[in-house]
Amino acid sequence: MGGYLPFIVDGSSYRRKEVEKEGESQRIKEMLSRGQLSIPDPTTGFHHSLCARCPKCGHDSSVHRIERSGMPIIRVVFRCPICGEDFDAGVDSMFLR
Ligand SMILES: [Zn+2]
Repeated sequence: MGGYLPFIVDGSSYRRKEVEKEGESQRIKEMLSRGQLSIPDPTTGFHHSLCARCPKCGHDSSVHRIERSGMPIIRVVFRCPICGEDFDAGVDSMFLR
């Protein structure tokens, strides 16, 4: 019985992180479908921009180029400020900063 409770605590905190990540991916999908690359925080007014991590060096990179199909953004290319790498990122690899 001793090891049972810590297992449950770990499991639920892991699930909570997964839910937050899914929520952010969903928000990013909605932004792209509206043709937006940044979103204002309703409480602070600060604009969060779309970012992705460089696959080569792991540095946060900002949007370099986009392709649209009408209003929705269908492709986002990021450029790493450190190594200059251009890369495509899927919605699941993007985050808001
Ligand atoms: Zn890089």
